[in-house]
Amino acid sequence: MRLDYLAAPADRIRLREGLRLAYRIAADEDMHGYVQRVLGADDLSLADDASVDRYVAKQVQTAHHPSGTAAMSADPGSGVVDSTWRVFGTEGLRMADASIIPSSVRASTNLTCMIIGERVARLLAGTARKESVVERV
Ligand SMILES: Cc1cc2nc3c(=O)[nH]c(=O)nc-3n(C[C@H](O)[C@H](O)[C@H](O)COP(=O)(O)OP(=O)(O)OC[C@H]3O[C@@H](n4cnc5c(N)ncnc54)[C@H](O)[C@@H]3O)c2cc1C
Repeated sequence: MRLDYLAAPADRIRLREGLRLAYRIAADEDMHGYVQRVLGADDLSLADDASVDRYVAKQVQTAHHPSGTAAMSADPGSGVVDSTWRVFGTEGLRMADASIIPSSVRASTNLTCMIIGERVARLLAGTARKESVVERV
């Protein structure tokens, strides 16, 4: 997957502003005693956009919360598992993780995964309520 980080000029401008602001905060006298030095910034020149861009490109990273790669669906044509977590077209295989989330959640994915796991556990233990997740979405 090619994500094209920093390809949009607006992103680079925003990150330059953010980095310069972070440096101003770190340089404030109230921060003395907490900040010794910035790691990996030896050749950084804050006044020079190109230098800031190089530093940002070296340091930038993301923390993806991937989900929905094997989405739950009522329709085998548009999903991978049914509303009881069974993988379409297989026998005896269920999936219970972030991959089955039908569309990106606004809540935390970790909590969502725990709930998915608990619901599947209840289903397998025979204590699940009758309602289907997909019908409620
Ligand atoms: C840096 C970071 C920070 C995050 N912070 C938060 C947060 O603050 N709040 C929040 O809600 N969510 C957070 N998340 C997201 C959350 O951790 C995930 O959404 C959640 O853990 C996904 O659960 P999962 O069961 O789908 O997958 P995972 O938790 O990734 O579990 C997959 C498991 O399968 C195992 N596995 C993989 N391949 C195989 C194999 N071939 N055979 C056997 N085992 C295998 C792996 O070792 C792993 O134990 C964060 C994620 C990251 C990366």
